[in-house]
This record gives sequence, C-alpha cells and structure tokens, in this order.
Amino acid sequence: MRGNLFIVSAPSGAGKSSLVNAVLALEPSIALSISFTSRGPRPGERHAQHYHFISKQEFEAMIGAGDFFEYALVHGDYKGTARQSVEPQLAAGKDVLLEIDWQGARQVRSKIPEAISVFILPPSRPALEERMRKRGQDSEDVIAQRFSAAHEEMSHLHEFDYLLVNEDFDQAVVEMRSIFIASRLRQQQQQQRHRDLIAGLLSAG
Ligand code: 5GP
Repeated sequence: MRGNLFIVSAPSGAGKSSLVNAVLALEPSIALSISFTSRGPRPGERHAQHYHFISKQEFEAMIGAGDFFEYALVHGDYKGTARQSVEPQLAAGKDVLLEIDWQGARQVRSKIPEAISVFILPPSRPALEERMRKRGQDSEDVIAQRFSAAHEEMSHLHEFDYLLVNEDFDQAVVEMRSIFIASRLRQQQQQQRHRDLIAGLLSAG
C-alpha cells in the first residue's frame, strides 16, 4: 500500500518549521523530505539537515536530468524536492511530508491528486509583521519585501485542503497531527489495511 503524501505551506513568519518539527517528533513514521536549494546556507543551517545546498549550475543540471519531483524559483532561489526523496518512500508504504511553497504544492497536486495539503496562517497581520521584524536587524525595505512575499504566498491559501491558524502552538500541533492521523484512516486505505478483518466481519454466518 502506498504511503500518504503531506504538503505543508505557509508564509515565512507563520511558524511552519517549529510546528512541523513538533508534529514529526510525535509521528516519527512520517519522513520529512529535505529539499535541494541553490541559496547559500544561513548561519546555523546545516547541509543535508536543513537543505541540500548546491550551486545554481548543479540545480539546473538536476532539472535537466529530470531528478525533481517538483521545483520552483522562490524569491530568486531554486528550491526543489528530489524524486528520490519521495517516490521510493511512498512506494514502500511510508508517509512523506513536504515543506514547500504554493508553486511546488500545485505541481505535487497535479501529480498526486490524493496528496493532503495544509496551509498555516499566522494569527493576525500584526503578529506576522512582528515575527518578520524579530528575524534580525533588517531595513524597512527588506521587511516590506518579506511582507509582500508573505502576502503572495497567502493569496494561494484557497488551494489547500486544510487551513490551520497558528495562534496557540500546542493547539496547532494537535490540529496538524489530527489531520495526519485522520488521513490515514480514510476509507480506501483502511479497506486495504484491514482487508481480512472486513472480509471476516462481512462473511455470512
Ligand atoms: P527559506 O529560504 O526561508 O528556507 O524558504 C523559503 C520558502 O521556500 C518557503 O516558503 C518554503 O516552503 C519554500 N521551499 C522550501 N523547500 C522547497 C522545495 O523543495 N520546493 C518548493 N517549491 N519550495 C520550497
């Protein structure tokens, strides 16, 4: 039986990575796909842990070789999910989670329509702005750019199956986990998983 494919998207500043990490600690059977990117590492980011950091040329060679499951230019940098990070896991029945932007989410949906997508919203506009400011001593220009990128990302929230508001962190963790658990209990999957049980229960006499 194939695994489930989960997509999680959010504007930067919505707390996506912290949420995903907290849920994955509770659901260790879900594999987090590590993306490839042509952007350089930020302080504290580690190769093969946060991203596979590669050059633009290497990224384009991978595009040419058909190595990507999805990819997009996100704020001027390539970001992409390798087919190798997804297809073998799904085929082996393992659930996979992708943290990608709306462009990637669209590509994934067109390949795997039964993928389950979640969009995370910040609790308010001031909260989002405040989180963006906290990221460092950036100029007003950089903050305005970041806000407009967040706005662009949020304008695609209608394309997702689930919307989650990250107001209370613990509550958001429960909600995201519930989505994943409920997805595994869908009719078709349960039919396959419990074929013998169901056959036994429904047999005459
Ligand atoms: P950052 O550069 O701050 O790590 O990520 C910025 C954006 O890139 C986020 O919206 C994130 O979802 C997106 N992103 C990260 N990895 C991928 C990927 O593999 N594919 C796509 N399409 N977007 C990605």
